Amino acid sequence: MFRKILIANRGEIAVRIIRACRELGIPTVSIFSEADRNSLHVKLADQSICIGPPPAVKSYLNAHNIVSAALISGADAVHPGYGFLSENPQFAEICQSHNLTFIGPSAEAMSQLGDKARAREIAQKSGIPVIPGTKVVETLEQALKEAKKIEFPVMIKAAAGGGGKGMRTALSAKELEKNLPLAQGEAEAAFGDSRVYLEKYLVRPRHIEVQILGDRLGNAAALGERECSLQRKHQKVMEEAPSSVVSHAVREKMQKMAVRMAQSVQYSGAGTVEFLMEPNGNFYMIEVNARIQVEHPVTEMVTGMDLVKEQILIASGEKLGFKQEQVVIQGHAIECRINAEDPQTFAPSSGTITKLHWAGGPGIRIDSHLRIGDSIPPFYDSMIGKLIVYGKNRQEALRKLRSALDESEIAGIATNLDFQRRLVRHDAVQKADIYVTFIEDLLKEK
Ligand code: ADP
Repeated sequence: MFRKILIANRGEIAVRIIRACRELGIPTVSIFSEADRNSLHVKLADQSICIGPPPAVKSYLNAHNIVSAALISGADAVHPGYGFLSENPQFAEICQSHNLTFIGPSAEAMSQLGDKARAREIAQKSGIPVIPGTKVVETLEQALKEAKKIEFPVMIKAAAGGGGKGMRTALSAKELEKNLPLAQGEAEAAFGDSRVYLEKYLVRPRHIEVQILGDRLGNAAALGERECSLQRKHQKVMEEAPSSVVSHAVREKMQKMAVRMAQSVQYSGAGTVEFLMEPNGNFYMIEVNARIQVEHPVTEMVTGMDLVKEQILIASGEKLGFKQEQVVIQGHAIECRINAEDPQTFAPSSGTITKLHWAGGPGIRIDSHLRIGDSIPPFYDSMIGKLIVYGKNRQEALRKLRSALDESEIAGIATNLDFQRRLVRHDAVQKADIYVTFIEDLLKEK
């Protein structure tokens, strides 16, 4: 087992990883930017090191400083969390070359999957359905020709994409002409890689993703699905497990595909194979996320597993401790992302927390780093916590969520608590009659 783990992240996920390490008896090192000096992850770790000024490029994305911090502190492994350097193959390689175990898949698997156009090709070769689409398109002529083949509307997607960036729809040739350079520019700005490809734009699909775990010995298993159809600007807002529209037979099929996808790149660690499902039930793989995801707790609640501990065990070379047949999905879990944002404009909100109360009771889990007196800096993602509920069925989970959201209180900054309270009460959400543009349609109604 590892001697000491450095957590290359901040916020709730850093706290989540420290807790897992504590349970495993592994000492931890936190890193922090100057803006996070007083953060909970700094306080909870056994050691902490400042790695730079507030902007992420100078701190949480500064691979050189992070690796130096790991070496100085005597850590022998690095957990990247999600976001920041978590899916950066160069970072994984730098860690390895300094004898630091990167807690995640190999740099090779990451670079194959991180290129979404390449991941589509790998899926196709493994007999996994993908949305009709193209390889990387370079010129407008090429894009127009290809778009005619797959037929409008189409989606322009960044090959290096993530977080909904570099993604634009085009309903017509004219829109493609306008949006292609915009998507390429956005992709270049966000990822330093302007390559884009096209996919047929699906109307009102659901987002359903399968959690997988693979060890370094070639064993892999799937832990059921999560439904993440409630999104705003392609960013998840509320997630649940299991999905109301996935039957036992469909789950088996999706899980087999997800495991096959993982094994085709010798995937190790925790990963997510994402699918879009059309209203007629057809589903297609869209991408693989080679890291722990924000919404992992809903899977933990319905499977009883600790995914972060599993990641650490796998990275240390242990064999997967269970077989696919032993995975049992029980009950229902829902997660609400609590963001520091303006309820009207959704613009990030920063400030100091003056009041804080989270709901509690059976089946309520709060994953958050927030404390009274904390200041929310404007430099990072606006998510400040996750409220997760578990019930014996969806109805019970929804009731718990309503009650927990009503009870929770955060003051000093603007949050989306009210928005989540309205969302959970919506008839369509109650009936699980949802799709990926549901929230946007709802906001347009007003
Ligand atoms: P990212 O890597 O930026 O998160 P994804 O490929 O995972 O992008 O897609 C994010 C979301 O964008 C999906 O959950 C879905 O809502 C929407 N989306 C992606 N591809 C399509 C498509 N072909 N048709 C319709 N919506 C799509």
